Amino acid sequence: MSKQLAFYVDSQKCIGCFSCAMACKNMYHPEPGVKWRQVYPLSEDIYPHHERAFYSLACNHCEHPTCLECCPVGAYTKREDGIVVHDQDKCIGCGNCVRSCPYGAPQYNPKLKKAEKCSMCWERIDAKLEPACVQACPVKALRIIDLSEFDDAEALHYPPGFPRFESLNPSVRFKLPRHPHVVRRNG
Ligand code: SF4
Ligand code: SF4
Repeated sequence: MSKQLAFYVDSQKCIGCFSCAMACKNMYHPEPGVKWRQVYPLSEDIYPHHERAFYSLACNHCEHPTCLECCPVGAYTKREDGIVVHDQDKCIGCGNCVRSCPYGAPQYNPKLKKAEKCSMCWERIDAKLEPACVQACPVKALRIIDLSEFDDAEALHYPPGFPRFESLNPSVRFKLPRHPHVVRRNG
């Protein structure tokens, strides 16, 4: 497998503080309502202690990105390191990518009348810096991995609640939240 950078989401560590999402917004100033990264509390069906379990999600920089395939003007490219980049100068705002991505990653910016999405902060990566979300996380629940050399048998590709689209092969891995010890007082 050639190089493929990916987000690793450690839900065992995540405390749902939204620092990652806020750092992303501060970095790129998207319009109100336009969110490149979101933090989702897990429902009780997935994890009984729902106040303590979150997935922090953004674009998955898929191996086979449907956003790239459906764009009529070639605004999407996939870099050699696997990052899927959207070029706003080329974008005509047709919304094909917004409608086609099953992960809801591309967002329509009504002010610019163009689409936009997480860039994995490729400019920062090229400068040997972490993406803003990764840097902002106070508990190191987000990190960047290279799937071509990542080897963790416990990492999940499609954890409960995360949609399975194998044809896209989303570049993301997860660690599930741990069930807390239940301490009971007798008598
Ligand atoms: S998650 Fe959506 S926007 Fe991101 S690369 Fe995959 S298809 Fe494209
Ligand atoms: S900054 Fe870290 S701990 Fe806070 S919500 Fe994001 S991933 Fe979770």
